[in-house]
Amino acid sequence: MKIKKIETITSNEFTEVCWVRIHTDDGRVGLGETWYLPQSVSSVIHELFAPQMIGLNPIEKDEIWNRLFRLMSVFTYSGAELRALSAIDIALWDLVGQALEQPIYNLLGGKVRDKVKIYNTIGSYGDYQDNEFEQKDPVGLAQSLLDEGIDVMKCYYLAPFSENSGGNYISSKDLKNALKPLSIQRKMLGDQIEIAHDGAGAWQLTPAVKIVKAMEEYDILWQEEMIQPVNVSTHKKLAEETKTPICAAERLMTRWGFREYIEQGVAEIVMPDLVWTGGISETKKIADFAEVYQTPIAPHDWTGPVNVFACAHISLSSQNFMIQETNRAYYKGWYHKFVEPNILIEDGYILPTEEPGLGTRLRSDVLERSDIQVRVTDEAANWNVVGFIDPGQKVPNYFSRNTS
Ligand SMILES: [Mg+2]
Repeated sequence: MKIKKIETITSNEFTEVCWVRIHTDDGRVGLGETWYLPQSVSSVIHELFAPQMIGLNPIEKDEIWNRLFRLMSVFTYSGAELRALSAIDIALWDLVGQALEQPIYNLLGGKVRDKVKIYNTIGSYGDYQDNEFEQKDPVGLAQSLLDEGIDVMKCYYLAPFSENSGGNYISSKDLKNALKPLSIQRKMLGDQIEIAHDGAGAWQLTPAVKIVKAMEEYDILWQEEMIQPVNVSTHKKLAEETKTPICAAERLMTRWGFREYIEQGVAEIVMPDLVWTGGISETKKIADFAEVYQTPIAPHDWTGPVNVFACAHISLSSQNFMIQETNRAYYKGWYHKFVEPNILIEDGYILPTEEPGLGTRLRSDVLERSDIQVRVTDEAANWNVVGFIDPGQKVPNYFSRNTS
């Protein structure tokens, strides 16, 4: 099995998502995905990664990951390059699963649970305008989730207030107003629903401490990214001065980005974003590292349909899995327009796919949509060790294997 063609697919209707399809010489197609600046990601794939991958065997995905990471790390360890690598890694796992006729969770050690508990993050699309209802009808919103069998939700009560002050300050009066929806939810529904809170990295430390302390009386499941994960000692201070578990962080990239936060116990719940931080391979490593420190993981979502499938394989096979994020406005609203089958969610749980590989594929009519752009690489080329292409230059052995 050798890689013969790599495609990227983007949509004008869903402007954040980039799908990657890797085709092999024996007719298989692996699907990957990432989210945010899809044209930039697509350019990274076709300019930098794809020419290096033509002719390689997908089963050697660890070596491919390392080779591409070395290539991109000439300039960066994150950004569009890491998102591109994440999407490629998912597609490689999909191919290997198909070739071995096993769902990916079986290649990650096998299932340690029969289904994956989910929570719902507030989002909006089509019939579901949950962002609006977080303020307008907080009890009705929570009750509608309970009616679907979902008893954990995540909200952004403070978002309008951080915009006003740049995240530098919140008055006691504004804080009280911001927490009114939460107060009503607790009063009317008691502990029927668990509530997590996401600060979206919008606050400085001082107002973050004030907010987290004010929310303690409402028994919050976790406080996520109240401050940006750029300084582990600031996170430590936040954790020490408050009582709610600190969750970090979708903005941390690779196992090296997570290391200090896990080691120092300030990521009390570890939240990797699979399509940003390096794919299935890297997320499994982060999950295993968290397990060494007796810390649970809660994979991040709020993006495209492939991420939910990919995270479910990690969630099914990781001993320290806590709960997986989902967004009902997306999985009920638009995922079915692009993938078949769609993710199967019943009574607050994702049910595992029995299909080999990822368990889903792009619908055959996606390429017929008028809003779709496809870019293809099917020719091999080399980049030299400092990341510049120079066909006339002799390249080191570890960059030149299996290239034309
Ligand atoms: Mg978040």
